[in-house]
Amino acid sequence: MTLIRKNFDVLIIGAGGAGLNAAVQLAGADLRVAVVSKVFPTRSHTVAAQGGVNAALGNVDEDKWHWHMFDTVKGSDYLGDQDAIEFMCREAIPTVYELEHNGVPFSRLDNGRIYQRPFGGQSRHFGKEQATRTCAAADRTGHAILHTLYQQNLKARSHFFTEYFAIDLLQDQEGGVTGALVMDISSGEPMVLNARATLLATGGCGQVFRTTSNAHINTGDGMAMALRAGVPLQDMEFFQFHPTGVAGRGMLITEASRGEGGYLINKEGERFMERYAPSAKDLASRDVVARAIVTEVREGRGCGPNGDHVLLKVDHLGEETVARRLPGIRETSKIFVGIDPAFEPIPVYPTAHYVMGGIPSDRFGRVVAPARHGPEEVVPGLYAAGECACVSVHGANRLGGNSLLDILVFGRLSGLDILDYLEEHPRHGQTDSASEEKAMARFQRFDREGDGIPVAELRAELQKVMEDHAGVFRTEEIMQEGLDRMRSIRDRLDEVRLKDRSRTFNTARVEAFELENLVDVGLSIVTSALHRQESRGAHSRPDFPERDDRNWMRHSLYFLEDDRLDYKPVRTRPLSVDSFPPKERVY
Ligand SMILES: Cc1cc2nc3c(=O)[nH]c(=O)nc-3n(C[C@H](O)[C@H](O)[C@H](O)COP(=O)(O)OP(=O)(O)OC[C@H]3O[C@@H](n4cnc5c(N)ncnc54)[C@H](O)[C@@H]3O)c2cc1C
Repeated sequence: MTLIRKNFDVLIIGAGGAGLNAAVQLAGADLRVAVVSKVFPTRSHTVAAQGGVNAALGNVDEDKWHWHMFDTVKGSDYLGDQDAIEFMCREAIPTVYELEHNGVPFSRLDNGRIYQRPFGGQSRHFGKEQATRTCAAADRTGHAILHTLYQQNLKARSHFFTEYFAIDLLQDQEGGVTGALVMDISSGEPMVLNARATLLATGGCGQVFRTTSNAHINTGDGMAMALRAGVPLQDMEFFQFHPTGVAGRGMLITEASRGEGGYLINKEGERFMERYAPSAKDLASRDVVARAIVTEVREGRGCGPNGDHVLLKVDHLGEETVARRLPGIRETSKIFVGIDPAFEPIPVYPTAHYVMGGIPSDRFGRVVAPARHGPEEVVPGLYAAGECACVSVHGANRLGGNSLLDILVFGRLSGLDILDYLEEHPRHGQTDSASEEKAMARFQRFDREGDGIPVAELRAELQKVMEDHAGVFRTEEIMQEGLDRMRSIRDRLDEVRLKDRSRTFNTARVEAFELENLVDVGLSIVTSALHRQESRGAHSRPDFPERDDRNWMRHSLYFLEDDRLDYKPVRTRPLSVDSFPPKERVY
């Protein structure tokens, strides 16, 4: 087999909001930019984002980035890095205006300004009253943003490798990244893409759980590639369960439905959030609402014949508001539960939604990792942005509307920093032959045929183990069993076989690669979770119910080698304002 090789200045893996916004920044420069995506760019998960993007524009009520910053630090349960959070909240305002100028069709207020809606965990005057900060295009904000960014890239003539699957990163002898090995999904041929700078923008990993709001493609590929290249994953124990997934199915019913005035009830018809969060009620932070729902169900106040969900009411808002502000969730409810939310409540239950952790990066998108037992360093040539990265702005819990913001702000900054990096590094690095051989071996890993374990079977087992052993509430015993079962799944990867290779589609090979990535990412989640002996944000342990700032206000780092964990301090010093010291988190 002759291996095709191509040279680019920049390789961007991922064509969601993060990857495409980075690519747009590079458009003006005279550079060869390759954007690789395993699906058509506008099918990236960003397209599914519903509720909106936060920016303190103050179009409805007075607002300040400083209040947005406070909410984000508090929402993160004080685990977010305050320098990065300040930066993001300040940048939010020009970022949204830039999107508007590039053509994103935001919904409008009567005075013509961008429409903003209330969202969970958002306040004015440092926690005193609800803010109206989330900029929206109905409940299809991600769709509007992704299509606009794709069009900007077409105009800029970015070079797309659509339906190419990235297998592994390539490295020089010192560990610097020199590009990636990819597979053309249509032909099954491998190809080496050399680049002076490589950006991972591969999105999240919700598919490690059985019930998830995430698309089939969100399998944590970039995170697993980073792990295999010796880079640790940061804060992986923090996984967000969105309170309102369609019960039993997992599709998302956006928080905007509560932002617009919807609320949750149990089987007694009680508006139970009043008990858990007396002032913010249904607009408390997501971790708080998800735990409340699970508790209601466990204590026997769930709805339906099996008492296994609660109900979300929006019917009191009137058909006109539902049609205008929430058309997407109306459609989802009609299709998947046969219910029109304008007239009936929607059965909901928490669903795996968002990974707060990821590839450790700074606010310029540069990947920073400690060498084994050494100090933290920038990995030459490697960037990460978007959901696959951990800057960290979300800490232990992300606020709704802050992820679209994260991908746009840090996607943009990565693009700009890459321009500087390329000036200082005019030549391509020399890929180490051992690194290329390792990537090729992985490419051929699932070429064995015959009777063995089918991919789908092992994936289903993995998703069930993760759901049962790393869910909303976690104890030592439950997680230890989860870890043992995940390790047994990893051992059985060697027995995975694709039946009759000559008649298998390449998509089946892709699913095998994805399974291997899910195993690595799943192990990073359970291992990090088992060791963190406290409850903070989305990580909730009945056996350690309190937050423990003295021992645990630190980021975890999981290394693939030996399933090793390390820790590093939280950056509590903002850029220009005073630090927000940790306080008890009440809503
Ligand atoms: C249903 C839903 C609703 C949401 N609503 C909101 C919201 O209202 N507000 C908000 O702030 N956030 C929301 N979020 C979260 C937010 O949308 C995501 O975190 C964000 O869009 C992720 O963007 P990204 O660019 O990092 O990745 P994605 O958009 O997921 O893109 C990943 C890209 O990487 C590519 N890729 C991955 N692996 C490979 C590989 N091996 N080879 C080649 N290409 C690869 C994919 O093809 C894709 O192009 C929502 C999420 C979901 C699931």
